[in-house]
Amino acid sequence: MCGIIGVAGNTEAVSVLLDGLERLEYRGYDSAGVAVVSPDGNLQVKKCKGRLSVLREALSRQEPLSGTIGIGHTRWATHGEPSDVNAHPHVGQNGKIAVVHNGIIENYLEIKQSLIRKGISFVSDTDTEVIVQLLEYYYGKKSDLMDAVYAVLNRIKGAYAMGILCSDFPGQMIAAKKDAPLLIGYGTDGNYIASDVTALLAHTKTVTYMEDDEVAVMTPDQVQIFDRDGCLLEKEKQLIAWDISAAEKGGYAHFMLKEIMEQPEAVWKTISPRLANGEIVLEELAEDADFMRGISRIYLVACGSAYHVGVVGKYVLEKLLHIPAEACLASEFRYSEPVLGESSLVIVISQSGETLDSMAALREAKRKGSRVLSIVNVMGSSIARESDYVLYTWAGPEIAVATTKAYTTQMVLLLMLGLWMARQLNRIQEGEYRKLVGGLEQLPEKIKKVLGNLDLYQKAASRYFNHNSVFYIGRNLDYALGLEGSLKLKEISYIHSESYAAGELKHGTISLIEPGTLVVALASYEPLAEKMLSNIVEVTSRGAEVLAVATEKTEGLVNSQAAEVFVIPAVHPLLQPVLGVIPLQLFAYYIALNRGCDIDKPRNLAKSVTVE
Ligand code: GLU
Repeated sequence: MCGIIGVAGNTEAVSVLLDGLERLEYRGYDSAGVAVVSPDGNLQVKKCKGRLSVLREALSRQEPLSGTIGIGHTRWATHGEPSDVNAHPHVGQNGKIAVVHNGIIENYLEIKQSLIRKGISFVSDTDTEVIVQLLEYYYGKKSDLMDAVYAVLNRIKGAYAMGILCSDFPGQMIAAKKDAPLLIGYGTDGNYIASDVTALLAHTKTVTYMEDDEVAVMTPDQVQIFDRDGCLLEKEKQLIAWDISAAEKGGYAHFMLKEIMEQPEAVWKTISPRLANGEIVLEELAEDADFMRGISRIYLVACGSAYHVGVVGKYVLEKLLHIPAEACLASEFRYSEPVLGESSLVIVISQSGETLDSMAALREAKRKGSRVLSIVNVMGSSIARESDYVLYTWAGPEIAVATTKAYTTQMVLLLMLGLWMARQLNRIQEGEYRKLVGGLEQLPEKIKKVLGNLDLYQKAASRYFNHNSVFYIGRNLDYALGLEGSLKLKEISYIHSESYAAGELKHGTISLIEPGTLVVALASYEPLAEKMLSNIVEVTSRGAEVLAVATEKTEGLVNSQAAEVFVIPAVHPLLQPVLGVIPLQLFAYYIALNRGCDIDKPRNLAKSVTVE
């Protein structure tokens, strides 16, 4: 979850670390810290509870930390409350070694107790501290730092990406990784580690993704990567296509607003390379098109908003392919003994490609002989690397914790996949296919139209921002949309919100509707719009205030019942959620703005969830 940055360079490390942490702060932000080692082996650490700004402030009030080799961390606490002492880097009791860590050490208690018995005293409540104390202990016994590192890696269980400094080796930094992301950047002014490529873009675009169980030793001029047996590896380098400006706010008040406004372009970039003469071409899958013919079941596995894309996918794929499809929460899927086999296709959806639960589900699926296709935004990420097939969304870096452009591009890609498979399986009529492909091509323009009504969403938000409970209701694809709309609202505005299949409300939840309750009624899915009207009347009859999302075609149905209607262009019903989500994103954004929330970094959340 957290952000790690490290540099072995030729210039002062602290400013490089702080700049990198600024770009990583969205990964975790309850505390931050840096450690640098000077050429004469002086290991200095500064760490504070709170945002990065607190650390900056604290550093500005003291003698500068001097050294060109350093590591930094923004934390998302898993073990021990956010506090100065629990913040990373952690230092061993002899003050020789400092460690930053992302992940969870599962057997930390057992190790901690055995070290305490040996007279080692701990200062923090974190699992991470066992890494550094154990490392110092082994180093003391073995007197070879690398031997000690390997001994630690053999002893700890769990997930880690880590950066290590040792005052006896002031010219080098060590990195290790297992089940948490870490990549190496090769710059002209030094070499870097980071948990996310956005932290490296200012220095280099040439990177290598570390694989599990690898260990790297880095100096300003050299990077050596070893496997778990200590053998030197020849690893390929990759060139990152993203530009640094894509990871900056560019004049917008928030990354979230910027990313919402980028959706026409992101959708176009995702669609256009896969269209040729009106035909969807998925080169990524072309060679194995035959396999698609044998699929008897599809699982869409993901977490959070990506799971909501999976729910859209369930409706879309069943409709287009007539193959049973199920949307599953990754954290449940992995432990639920899913019925998987060679004829199952598991579609894993993840923006970062590092979501730990989704990764575990992927491995479970592969273990059971299923093929895995992933829909991922970050090139070269772990999920992408381990999947049989990868379809990349070309959304560019997404920094705001609440996803917007990654969600829409994932949805668009699933639609394309469904259409491509329907074509391969001869399950779609020519006319319908043409209509849908034509509709896809027009989506960016239509999204622009929806984005043209900012003042409408702003006004509605200033009318409703004081509500403390909101319901989202919809049917079929509108139900899937409601899940996402409701999540957006609660994530960033902290308003309690529930999302229900509209027909389900009367089976219990309608008891919560009382005069003045805000119900966001989604009536954009034309085939069921009349049914939605009945559900809207059910709530207005009980005094609810309805904010509806309708198309030019369904608007007339809901107008008389709704206090407010967001009207979006009517497109093919299967494409409608791509437009329908935009007013919901903006409504949530402006509500959060009215409530003075920290929109890009909502409390307790982190962008890429790399712990279980
Ligand atoms: N488990 C560690 C801690 O709680 C690391 C958390 C993180 O990844 O930020 O300090």
